Amino acid sequence: MNKTKRIVLIAHDNKKPDLLEWVKFNKGTLSSHFLFATGTTGKLINEETALPVHRFISGPLGGDQQIGSKIVEGELDMMIFFWDPLSAQPHDPDVKALLRIAVLYNIPMACNRATADFLISSGLLNEEYENPKLF
Ligand code: PGA
Repeated sequence: MNKTKRIVLIAHDNKKPDLLEWVKFNKGTLSSHFLFATGTTGKLINEETALPVHRFISGPLGGDQQIGSKIVEGELDMMIFFWDPLSAQPHDPDVKALLRIAVLYNIPMACNRATADFLISSGLLNEEYENPKLF
């Protein structure tokens, strides 16, 4: 991984306010990295922060699968994924597949705000990092 990270942001509907608040709070730090997101999450981030965000398709329409394939191809470095543990999702199989791929490819991943806080304040965020192949 280069010093500038390719960070993907995803939030399920009930978690979008949390993620938007987190992104606003960390706007300065995030502005020096490349941001990616699922469709609606990316649109909201761009509208509310003016940060440039590359948007994939909306999650339920295949965005999670697009992101999984980008991880496999080595094109994303880190994932902030505020998934909703209290609501059933129509694309639950895609969510599960994305989480599996992120673990398999050893992508730093935060699924809640506390972990996202620890990730973004890590000394490694702005350093080069050799991601060891685990398989
Ligand atoms: P969305 O997708 O950002 O397009 O809402 C996220 C999701 O629900 O998986």
